[in-house]
Amino acid sequence: MVLNIKRASSLDGSSFNVQDVLKPFVHQVGGHTPFTSLPNGHLLKPCHERELFFYQQMPSSLKSIAPLCCSTIQGTSLSSLMDCCTNCTEHQLENIVIPESIEGSSILNKRKLSRNFIILSDLTHRMKSPRILDLKLGTRQHGDQATAAKAACMTAKCQATTSATLGIRLCGMKYDNNSISKYEGRAMREQELCSAIRGFFNVHREVLDEARRKLKRIRETLCEADGVRLFGSSLLFVIEGDFESNQQPINDLVRIKVVDFANATFSGFLADNLYPGIDDGSLLGLDTLNRFLDVLGE
Ligand SMILES: [Zn+2]
Repeated sequence: MVLNIKRASSLDGSSFNVQDVLKPFVHQVGGHTPFTSLPNGHLLKPCHERELFFYQQMPSSLKSIAPLCCSTIQGTSLSSLMDCCTNCTEHQLENIVIPESIEGSSILNKRKLSRNFIILSDLTHRMKSPRILDLKLGTRQHGDQATAAKAACMTAKCQATTSATLGIRLCGMKYDNNSISKYEGRAMREQELCSAIRGFFNVHREVLDEARRKLKRIRETLCEADGVRLFGSSLLFVIEGDFESNQQPINDLVRIKVVDFANATFSGFLADNLYPGIDDGSLLGLDTLNRFLDVLGE
């Protein structure tokens, strides 16, 4: 499939040479959806229509804990979101052609399920040596639209892993020469998960403190997010491993966001069930994580 996207109102009529702007994303951990790098710190993610709608309609409180979504692509139509970054306001994407693969790397996911994409901020942008950790959040991962068989399968997966009891499961980790796959993450018990996470956060004290501040803010946001359910979402951590030589402010060296909203919901989203109150499963995950990190801060 080749997708040729044109914006109706071109600012300057310029077009990108796709071979110059699309690159396979090299820092991916977890998940099966291949990401593609776009210029200026953006990623192209093929997605289910639900996730695209979720970004378009996301409550403003959640925006602070999610990656910035600058544009959505539905079929051949590209639209910018109101609060896209200044770079996207100034240099809007025009006439981009999305091929099926780039440099031998697939752009669409395995099922080639959509011509829908979202353009997100790349959390690894300007990191010299990013440490990356993906923790699946919550005790339930299927959305309301899952078939009975799929729901049963995902519930069993939660029961068989740390998801059900701890509210987190390691879905991917990569730093220095360490790497843990989602399959290894599924096999972990609490002790192994705890030591893997402590190894990941074995960083400069300032970096750890900043990570804990950001986790606290995410927790506060979720405590006020009545009706939100982050089914199947992850906490994604990107931390500068080369702390000594990256001169950016500390705030920029520790990036933590909630990602993957294909099964997430909030009150009034599409025709989903209503879930009163806060997302206890996700909060359990954050509390587990804090418990693991408490020892490091002493
Ligand atoms: Zn942007």
